[in-house]
Amino acid sequence: METKQFKAESKRLLDLMINSIYTHREIFLRELISNASDAIDKIYYKSLTDDSLTFDKDNYYIRVDFDKDKRIIKITDTGIGMNKDELEENLGVIAKSGSLQFKKDNESQDNHDIIGQFGVGFYSAFLVAKKVTVISKALGSDKAYKWESCGAEGYTIEETEKDSVGTEIILTVKDNTEEENYDEYLGEYRLKEIIKKYSDFIRYPIKMECTERKLKEGSKDEYEDYKELKTINSMVPIWRKNKNELKDEDYDNFYADKHYGFDKPLSHVHISVDGMVSYNAILYIPEQTPYDFYTKEYKKGLELYSNGVMIMNKCEELLPDYFSFVKGIVDSQDLSLNISREILQHDRQLKLIAKNIKSKIKSELERMLKNDRDKYEKFYKAFGRNLKYGIYSEYGSNRDVLEDLLMFYSSKEDKLVTLAEYLERMKEDQKYIYYAAGESLDRLKKLPQTEMLLDKGYEILYFTEDIDEFAIKMLMKYKEKEFKSVSSNDLGIEKEEDKDLSEEDKKENDKLFEEMKNVLGDKVKAVRASKRLKNYPVCLANDGELSIEMEKVLNAMPN
Ligand code: ADP
Ligand code: MG
Repeated sequence: METKQFKAESKRLLDLMINSIYTHREIFLRELISNASDAIDKIYYKSLTDDSLTFDKDNYYIRVDFDKDKRIIKITDTGIGMNKDELEENLGVIAKSGSLQFKKDNESQDNHDIIGQFGVGFYSAFLVAKKVTVISKALGSDKAYKWESCGAEGYTIEETEKDSVGTEIILTVKDNTEEENYDEYLGEYRLKEIIKKYSDFIRYPIKMECTERKLKEGSKDEYEDYKELKTINSMVPIWRKNKNELKDEDYDNFYADKHYGFDKPLSHVHISVDGMVSYNAILYIPEQTPYDFYTKEYKKGLELYSNGVMIMNKCEELLPDYFSFVKGIVDSQDLSLNISREILQHDRQLKLIAKNIKSKIKSELERMLKNDRDKYEKFYKAFGRNLKYGIYSEYGSNRDVLEDLLMFYSSKEDKLVTLAEYLERMKEDQKYIYYAAGESLDRLKKLPQTEMLLDKGYEILYFTEDIDEFAIKMLMKYKEKEFKSVSSNDLGIEKEEDKDLSEEDKKENDKLFEEMKNVLGDKVKAVRASKRLKNYPVCLANDGELSIEMEKVLNAMPN
């Protein structure tokens, strides 16, 4: 039996790793299971080119056992195993990935399913274990070896007995301390939960002895417990399945299973991209606004997987703020499993995926708008405000993505219309896109300022939400047509109208207007005659850029 030292840097790296890369202790199981899955994959890929090897999927599995009294957790796999050199190379040198090497050596093959490539995952075992024992027999070898380590001090390797090819990883779980309780990992329920959470879509069965309950023989009301070896993971993720095999119901069920919401999604997009970056995704447009959606508590994000293994619950980087309502999952083999939050923010692949996802969501919303107007309006009532905030908060820089998705009520129809629809039926002599902002549709319909425009047959958009006008101010134009508030001093038609007002008319009223201005004082800037009115004697107009409604909102804001 030989005792060897870890390579010098390894000690520090090990410490660093254990304490900083992983924020959740429970991921040790995810890492060890993905290594086991990689090891089985390797046999599979070898069998593709090696005729002496046959791969019968039923013979390959991963198994998790635990013994509460002995304080051990055991992860067994029927994978390719490691010989003595490989144990030293792969487990004795931190940040050395045998899996990455395997991928390089077998470049020509379609082996991109292998997850590992960083060479640190294995050491996460020390997050919960005080001692790690690895017993392994490599494919094609008749000897088995035992590797053992208690952490940074080093490791031992010795020959041992093992019947079948594969690897057994035995963790001796740490003792509880004042601060930390490790007992939770020695329980059936908790282990099952972790497997489900992170490794549900590992392609090979992950088996565990589960406690089941049945009626005692011959009894009608007495139960007894028994153990049964069960497969915990569901194996084939829905996003890897072919779209044609799936029904709307399957997508709806997945949405519910994942607790994305209690509603039924309005629509889903199933994406499989192979190219600059490869990924699969299922995205949902929810029907209802989550109760906390317009609060600070709401966290946007998509679930992120690296090749079937969960990395993150809510990856914010995948969604722009204006699409924060989208739910769903992204799985990419181009992302490393051991990636940290900080690295992720700068990850080029992730940025590419995010960009791609943004355009997919946009197309889906446009598709809904075009083909399923009712649904789109439902969506818009729930999340339209978020799109308008998007335009406002990013200074209209995202107009290309959002402007065609906007809708407003209009004087023409008692329903929401798009800007494109407005433009299409604009009068020939009409210069602007007119809008009126106010508290409610009822009030807006009675607004004196609109009379003349409506008389000319111009359509007016009705803005009833505070954000509407602010967003429009950021857009400024839609396809070269400027927006104009009906309370604006210059409606772009007034010049000719003003001319009709004779000098005498103006003079005649001068005294009256002066008197009115005196009475109103600072409340108005000026009192003028106008031909804008027909049935109403008077209306308010604004002089500068800000409409009266906007001024109201700004004045109401806390300083
Ligand atoms: P990674 O998985 O990123 O390569 P790990 O630290 O998780 O890094 O594992 C290091 C290496 O150890 C792997 O690349 C693999 O070669 C080897 N290894 C780990 N676990 C197993 C296993 N169960 N069976 C065979 N080889 C393994
Ligand atoms: Mg690994």
